[in-house]
Amino acid sequence: MYSDDELITCKKCRVEIDKMEEKNIVSPKNLKRLKHPRRILYANFPIKKDNGETDIITAFRVLYNDDLGPGKGGIRFHQDVDLDEVTELAFIMTLKTSVVGLPFGGAKGGVRINPRDYSETELERISRGYIKEFWKYIGPQEDVPAPDVNTNPQIMSWMRDEYEKLVGEKTPAVITGKSVEDGGSLGRDKSTSMGGFYILQEEFKNRDKSDVSVAIQGFGNVGSHLAQMLFDAGYKVVAVSDREGGVYKEDGLDIPKIMSCVYGGDNKNESVINCGEGEVISNKDLLELDVDLLVPAALGGVINRENVSDIKANAIIEMANGPILVNAEKILKDNNIRVIPDLLANSGGVIVSYFEWYQNLHDEKWDLEKVNSQLKERIIDAYNRIIDVAKKDDLDLRKAAYKIAIERINQAQK
Ligand code: GLU
Repeated sequence: MYSDDELITCKKCRVEIDKMEEKNIVSPKNLKRLKHPRRILYANFPIKKDNGETDIITAFRVLYNDDLGPGKGGIRFHQDVDLDEVTELAFIMTLKTSVVGLPFGGAKGGVRINPRDYSETELERISRGYIKEFWKYIGPQEDVPAPDVNTNPQIMSWMRDEYEKLVGEKTPAVITGKSVEDGGSLGRDKSTSMGGFYILQEEFKNRDKSDVSVAIQGFGNVGSHLAQMLFDAGYKVVAVSDREGGVYKEDGLDIPKIMSCVYGGDNKNESVINCGEGEVISNKDLLELDVDLLVPAALGGVINRENVSDIKANAIIEMANGPILVNAEKILKDNNIRVIPDLLANSGGVIVSYFEWYQNLHDEKWDLEKVNSQLKERIIDAYNRIIDVAKKDDLDLRKAAYKIAIERINQAQK
């Protein structure tokens, strides 16, 4: 027999919930249900490689909680992903969908591969294999996946297709983040960055933007689009980075130049350090820059006990999920560094996923203006509610967001 503690797959979730309970931030009613994931799926399935060999693929899907509606959350492809991480991410999704008022629970999926090790056709077999394993536990009213780290509209479309083959009917709402031609929503591709951008416009509404310096860690879908939006709005984006390293320019980088070098023409997937713009720095240097705003927009855990004392930014917006480890957060607080937490900051993605799911179910097609104006309304409303609760109850923004999210889940529990 295992003890309750041995069965915990996400210690961080438990620590967070216990903290909220101990400090009486939320009423303990039914908090018990949030201490455990509702359902964990774990598979090792074979796929054929192009050279005829077989690979065994390890994959997960966790439905953390479904009190508010079907599970919702992306699927990431990453060589280090494990059950604990997927569970923690599903927990964050549970609170994220709740705090922005969506009719969804929280879920997450992971495939333990480095996608760079596989060809396009192999990635297709992996994506389809994932659905073959888990299709009985997903569906528009059950659990609705989406893209996450290293997954994209093409992968979502393969997954949709495989699901439809298995159930024998058209079911576009089974998955979001599809390409627009395949039933995806306009604006979904930039929605995570757009949501963060709307929040930053509120945060810095009384500042001259050309005076606001920003460093962005991660130049994938989220980091690059946000860099472009901030540049267009006149902010001074002084540094950006990717897995190879970063670039820095005190007066602000030419983001369009870096964008077209990294994503345009034949140079697809070029590193930001090879664009001839700015002085090359390391990722560590970027995180430690003395800027108004630091934007971790890549993976989790990048601000941790080792580097937290060197963080000099005035504020951090968590565009990645979980970039600040629990033990580092307290030190940021002591150093008066404001943190806009992931469950609000990057919720633009899942908000527009909700719009996509809704459009699919009702056979509607919204124009980009409608998508963005509804996104703005919803995310700014959540932002204002969090700020109010934080002030009223003297909480940091993360705890205020948790409080709102958990209370909404508690109300929905039967
Ligand atoms: N992967 C994104 C997130 O972490 C989007 C999830 C979704 O759209 O369901 O919020």
